[in-house]
Amino acid sequence: MDMELSEEQRMIKETVRRFLEKEVRPLVDEQEKAVRPISKELVKKLIPFGYLGGLLPEEAGGAELSYTTYFLMIEELSRVWPSLRAVVSISNSVLTHIHDYGTEAQRKRFMPSLLCGESIGFFALTEPNVGSDTSSIETRATLVDGRWILNGTKMFITNGVEGDIGIVIAQTDKSKGINGTAALLVERKMGYRARPIEKMGLVCSPLAELIFEDCEVPQENLLGKVGDGLRQGLKFLNSARAMVAFIAAGVAQACVDAAVEYAKNRVQFGKPIGAFQLIQAKISDMVTLTSAMRLLGLQASDLLDKGKPCRREASMAKLFATENVLKIAEEALQIHGGYGYTKEFPVERYYRDIRYFTIAEGTNEMQRLMIARDVLGISAFN
Ligand SMILES: Cc1cc2nc3c(=O)[nH]c(=O)nc-3n(C[C@H](O)[C@H](O)[C@H](O)COP(=O)(O)OP(=O)(O)OC[C@H]3O[C@@H](n4cnc5c(N)ncnc54)[C@H](O)[C@@H]3O)c2cc1C
Repeated sequence: MDMELSEEQRMIKETVRRFLEKEVRPLVDEQEKAVRPISKELVKKLIPFGYLGGLLPEEAGGAELSYTTYFLMIEELSRVWPSLRAVVSISNSVLTHIHDYGTEAQRKRFMPSLLCGESIGFFALTEPNVGSDTSSIETRATLVDGRWILNGTKMFITNGVEGDIGIVIAQTDKSKGINGTAALLVERKMGYRARPIEKMGLVCSPLAELIFEDCEVPQENLLGKVGDGLRQGLKFLNSARAMVAFIAAGVAQACVDAAVEYAKNRVQFGKPIGAFQLIQAKISDMVTLTSAMRLLGLQASDLLDKGKPCRREASMAKLFATENVLKIAEEALQIHGGYGYTKEFPVERYYRDIRYFTIAEGTNEMQRLMIARDVLGISAFN
């Protein structure tokens, strides 16, 4: 594995960073304070860089970016605005998933509006009683006269409020366990209710509970085959885990940048606080951990790029990055003293925004159990 970024990757990272600093950063504070959801207009501004569809082949409207390059762009976006990252990358994952699993007719019908940002995508697996144990999905899809009738509730769905097209994982035959599940493409116009859920961070990326009551979905909206719904859902999460390491690295870098700036300028005892060894130790640990999380992320993305299995590596990258970015955010806040606890400086938001990620894409407890299962050959789940 090549640890050095290619010339092209460095250029993309720099170009994206310049754009985000100029066009996006000035919007963040005001919009976060107003808790105003990310607009489609803003999402559309990211399209020229490949944030939507960048991983797809050119003939499908993509930029043929590698996972590594795409994740490096995600790292830059997370450094500036994690809420915007959430909206964009989930919509992008839905788009990529439709490309990978959809029929030609489904691609033609659903991909163009996602590609141009006119539609926003969501992915709905979690339910009120179904979290880490995804094998017990309760939302039911029944085929009646050429239509799927969907009944049930999906919980904590990112983009669920504003989203237009979603992948909903439902059970078609409970007696078959995970082999009795299906993935359906559901559009907002098909009629379900979305109840917004307030949360501590990522406040401009709304979260929703989705309630399906006899929601009618055309039979041709089945994605893949009946029986592979949950497997599709788990595949969706695998690359997302590797990506989380880059999201964390982006927020970690934002914390380092803020802490360095503050440590150079805040004077106590007649010196910048950055001159004190205890502050220096914090800064050096923060920088070292940020580098390590990036390297584990790169290991996982490199395997994804080579089409090799990366379950263990993606879990390790996610686990390490999400626990260490919390330490980094906490130290950044500590370096800011009392100011760090206020909304006058951005570090309190970095802490709130990144807190979710030990829970995201399979909790860290689940990651530990999966890594250990891989190493020991013994599963804690059965
Ligand atoms: C901001 C946000 C965005 C989200 N976006 C989406 C989305 O877009 N789509 C979607 O489908 N879902 C989404 N989710 C849901 C998220 O994926 C789940 O919250 C997560 O999978 C955990 O499920 P749970 O909350 O039900 O926790 P539970 O599974 O109930 O777990 C509770 C606690 O018990 C622990 N635990 C459970 N089982 C075990 C075990 N066997 N051994 C040890 N510990 C265990 C867990 O690790 C956790 O600490 C989102 C959640 C949030 C907060």
